[in-house]
Amino acid sequence: MEDFVRTDRLVSPEMNRGEAEELTLRPRTLAEYVGQEKVKENLRIYLEAAKRRGEPMDHILLYGPPGLGKTTLAGIVAQEMGVQIRITSGPAIEKPGDLAALLTNLQEGDVLFIDEIHRLSRQVEEVLYPALEDFALDIMIGKGPSAQSIRIDLPKFTLIGATTRAGQLTGPLRDRFGVLLKLELYSPDELARIIRRSAGILGQPCTDEGALELAKCSRGTPRVANRLLKRVRDFAVVLGDGTVDGPAARLALKRMDIDALGLDELDRSLLRAIIELYAGGPVGLDTLAAALGEEAVTLEDVCEPYLMQMGFLTRTPRGRCVTRLAYEHLGLRAPDLAAENGQQSMF
Ligand code: ADP
Repeated sequence: MEDFVRTDRLVSPEMNRGEAEELTLRPRTLAEYVGQEKVKENLRIYLEAAKRRGEPMDHILLYGPPGLGKTTLAGIVAQEMGVQIRITSGPAIEKPGDLAALLTNLQEGDVLFIDEIHRLSRQVEEVLYPALEDFALDIMIGKGPSAQSIRIDLPKFTLIGATTRAGQLTGPLRDRFGVLLKLELYSPDELARIIRRSAGILGQPCTDEGALELAKCSRGTPRVANRLLKRVRDFAVVLGDGTVDGPAARLALKRMDIDALGLDELDRSLLRAIIELYAGGPVGLDTLAAALGEEAVTLEDVCEPYLMQMGFLTRTPRGRCVTRLAYEHLGLRAPDLAAENGQQSMF
């Protein structure tokens, strides 16, 4: 499976190839990290307590949709603890030996960040358990009856795991994290703050109105907000006076086919397919993916969280259904959904 999903899509919350400049936009301290107040408050206390005890932080699991700042937060933990961070991902650790090499190269106190930790293989996970619990590595030497297990001590380290779905983690792995932090989608005000901060770093003039216009279309996701800022900057420079203001933002979003709520063509075709091909649903995810010629996982991870958050889509045991709001957003007349889908009427 690809590590980068739908690189052509502007509103995709996944990191595109060539978004290396994203690194310069990353906040480095908790004070710079916008929003996620509950997470920050708790994290501040855990960090302070660990520092006072002179011990590494407990292992942390961060979960929430892509692009919300999980990698950034892991970097901040390392920075605040004054240690190094190693960044890797579940699919990149193919064999137990790969993980052993990573672990034995850590220094005392270091942070190991594993993105998409739900994609670790079972064998690799089993090597991770004693490493997390006892800071030790059990290695088998030899084969058959003469095989021997030896134990190697590891430096005390902090694992920070990130996942888009906490439910996909195995129970034993989840239980080994002392701290579980859930990241939420950001409000338009918070995203506007992030956009103004990024514009400042990029040296791009940007008005409050311009920032808010972009924020409203950023699907609650800082990565999308930063990407829209960079694209709108192009329109502002070529077609305007170089400032990202309200009119420049609105013009650019229109040209990029992103509507007032941040939906792009893929979101709209998903809703339209449910309406036109399946009478508003319910329809199974795989059927829908086949109808659209998309991967089911793309629809599930990239389109659905936001469409559900906006109240356009519901998941029922029998499949996906659109709501009256979706019909209205697309300018279509909604039938009597409650009667047709056997849903509880929400209206
Ligand atoms: P994830 O690991 O959850 O996919 P990242 O940590 O890579 O997300 O964040 C994506 C981008 O969004 C980063 O480059 C960063 O600049 C920006 N970002 C994320 N969270 C925040 C935040 N709270 N404040 C400011 N910028 C943020």
